[in-house]
Amino acid sequence: MAVGRFAPSPTGALHLGNLRTAMLAWLFARSTSSRFLVRMEDLDHVVARPEHEGQQLADLASLGVDWDGTVVRQSERWERYEAAIRLLAEQGLTYPCFCTRKEIQAAVSAPHGEVAPYPGTCRRLSSSAQAAHEAVGRRPALRLRSDGASVVVDDLLCGPVRGLVDDFVLRRNDGVPAYNLAVVVDDCGQGIEQVVRGDDLLTSSPRQAGLAHLLGFAAPSYAHVPLVLGPSGQRLAKRDGGVTLADQQALGRSAEGVRSLLGASVGLCEPNEPVTMADLLERFEPVRLPRQPWVWGQAADRTGAAGEAPRLSRP
Ligand code: GLU
Repeated sequence: MAVGRFAPSPTGALHLGNLRTAMLAWLFARSTSSRFLVRMEDLDHVVARPEHEGQQLADLASLGVDWDGTVVRQSERWERYEAAIRLLAEQGLTYPCFCTRKEIQAAVSAPHGEVAPYPGTCRRLSSSAQAAHEAVGRRPALRLRSDGASVVVDDLLCGPVRGLVDDFVLRRNDGVPAYNLAVVVDDCGQGIEQVVRGDDLLTSSPRQAGLAHLLGFAAPSYAHVPLVLGPSGQRLAKRDGGVTLADQQALGRSAEGVRSLLGASVGLCEPNEPVTMADLLERFEPVRLPRQPWVWGQAADRTGAAGEAPRLSRP
């Protein structure tokens, strides 16, 4: 049986964009008779909080997004990330990097705000240079020693995406496994075959597929879904107002109403039509999903004013 997943970071309440992505991931999974797992990406203990985890799960349940088995927490899987790092290190595929963010920024010229690949400054650092960094208390991050391969991922919604597997960070310099490592170790380790997530992560997918291959796994299939944007065209944020389920409920829109609103935003129902997740599942056809972001922010969206259908707009 195939396996899909939703992998939120418990750093706050899920907003409508996160909830919409969760609904879509669920629809993709259930429409292919797949198991559906929830994984808490809570490695960053500075921002991840257990109380957010409980709220996020309650919000998913209120919308009717159910999951199989117990929720997995990355903070409880540290050993797996270190085992993957050991496997790569044994093949000579890692190196410590002492560069600060500032130094990296100064070394790369990144036109149009693109993130340029790390220039490999620390690739050939001598052991005396390493010792000198350590002597002044600089702690290294650990990077992948990549061969600069270019990987193509065939995204179900976005088509082929080509990207470089660069020398990305595997373990941060505070000792925390990096997102790109942990997500691959878990997707592979949990047998995830279908990754459905926001399209802000589209450009990370070739890198992640490349790392999966290095660890001896086949990469999952990917479907990157359009984001929900705030009225200013920026990604949705708290300041946009009324963006969480609790906010919506305080404004008079029930969880069922939010489900209809989100279902309507992906073309599966009318904005005020009472629907269950099973109804949405029956109507779900991935090829008909919108490919443009949903812009949140009309007054009716925010207030859920009775009888007034929220209007959907495209940027
Ligand atoms: N934890 C990430 C987030 O909340 C999602 C990671 C993923 O789906 O690969 O944005």
